[in-house]
Amino acid sequence: MRKLLVILDLDETLIHATLTPSRSPDFRVLDYGVLMRPGLGAFLEELFTRYEVALWTASTKEYANAVLPHLCDPQRFLFVWSRERCVNRRIVELDEWVYVKDLKKVKRSTGRSLDRVVLVDDSPEKAQRQYGNYIRVEAYEGDPGDRELPVLRQFLRSFDPVADVRPIEKRGWRSRPTDGVPRLVLGRNGGCYYEFQCQPKGHDYVHWHPDSLFLDDDHFRVAADLFQSQSTSFNAYGPTRYADGQLTRLHDGFLRLAAREDVAPEYRSIAKELGELARRCHSTGEVLWVLGP
Ligand SMILES: [Mg+2]
Repeated sequence: MRKLLVILDLDETLIHATLTPSRSPDFRVLDYGVLMRPGLGAFLEELFTRYEVALWTASTKEYANAVLPHLCDPQRFLFVWSRERCVNRRIVELDEWVYVKDLKKVKRSTGRSLDRVVLVDDSPEKAQRQYGNYIRVEAYEGDPGDRELPVLRQFLRSFDPVADVRPIEKRGWRSRPTDGVPRLVLGRNGGCYYEFQCQPKGHDYVHWHPDSLFLDDDHFRVAADLFQSQSTSFNAYGPTRYADGQLTRLHDGFLRLAAREDVAPEYRSIAKELGELARRCHSTGEVLWVLGP
């Protein structure tokens, strides 16, 4: 499979540059004191090793050229683009102009299809033409305790086996499992997550919501079998969004499983719980996520 192309924004994604830095800056360019986002060095190093990496800032070329040599060897980027490549678009409702990063330009310029491309940026409006490729990061404004890049590094790995990254839901990525362990995840879109998680015995726990329920691998297999028989998309690695009709089928399927006398009682109680959760998802509009191997 083709290497993932990761296109990185600069300001508030990798660095925070300000005339009046809150603490002693890592370096200075032009009139700015620049703070590097914690973990930036290791983040870039891993990205350069595993992916193709490009940089696209809505700032000027002069600014980008002044900053980048402080971060890494700029030659390692597939391309470095600046404001000139953005589309200046007016948002009528806000009466504002924004610089939009239209990935069609990447397609035209590199000849790549956009199925293995992600754009990492703190400003959603910059990605408005291709939200499917977009990973939003929190704006970095100098917080020394910021953990965004190490977690993002893990999340990007989850795209390794994915042929087309665009249909994969990327909101709420910070609370997603990131170590390749198969899981069932029940989530509330963009907010608090409840998860069913399958954890092979002896596997270390990764950061996860405290309300998580843990299924051992046998339990997971029962649920996975059912999911597989209910849905063709279970085998896709990455979160799968279930439509309402599918949720109803899952609910019914789990309840059928829960009623089967040939199934061990502990499996049946888990199936019942899964069924209740699917039903709740259906009635409250929460989103059920399934992450498969
Ligand atoms: Mg930015």
